Amino acid sequence: MHLKSLVLKGFKSFADRCAISLEPGITAVVGPNGSGKSNISDAVLWVLGERNAKNLRGQAMEDVIFAGSSARKSVGVAEVDLVLDNADGTLPVDFSEVSLTRRMYRSGESEYLINGSPARRMDFMDILHDTGLGEGAHSIIGQGNLDAILASRPEDRRALVEEAAGVLKHKQRKERSERKLAAMDAHLARVKDVAAEVE
Ligand code: ATP
Repeated sequence: MHLKSLVLKGFKSFADRCAISLEPGITAVVGPNGSGKSNISDAVLWVLGERNAKNLRGQAMEDVIFAGSSARKSVGVAEVDLVLDNADGTLPVDFSEVSLTRRMYRSGESEYLINGSPARRMDFMDILHDTGLGEGAHSIIGQGNLDAILASRPEDRRALVEEAAGVLKHKQRKERSERKLAAMDAHLARVKDVAAEVE
């Protein structure tokens, strides 16, 4: 799986439609200070479902919508479309290419689309779960985050390694199974009580 393209429209400093194609390998984005380089990584985080405006360097989520400049009026909607090459089937869907689109209106209303069809944020999370792109994943390391990771406690750093190695999925499944087993034990105890009463 790799990131094929990113299209931004009305997102932060990108008032007009801006399409970025990416090839497999390393891509570097260069430009003067304040030209919008970090806004591109914010767009990736946002389309993947980020809910915390602070992680997008804003105060409120509305700050992702182009707010206008001396030359341009503000716009009413921000949209980011991210296309992933899924030829290797990393994402659990029957498409060799997956487009994830997120839109947000000034009213606060949000829309999510998968390959152009309306979806929910939860559907994004389901598709991305355990791919390294899902919620809480560290696919984007912001300026300053690296220091925080290096200074973190060994247990927290271990969690990062587990996430990268795909161990987290199995841990979560184990926890789910343990919860189900505990619930089953409780049901069983109740059934035994009722059976004892009947006898
Ligand atoms: P640096 O190299 O200094 O880190 P950068 O190239 O990463 O800079 P960004 O931080 O991505 O730049 O972009 C900052 C610019 O984006 C600022 O000029 C800011 O005014 C503009 N910007 C951010 N949000 C919006 C918005 N909602 N509407 C219009 N412009 C915005």
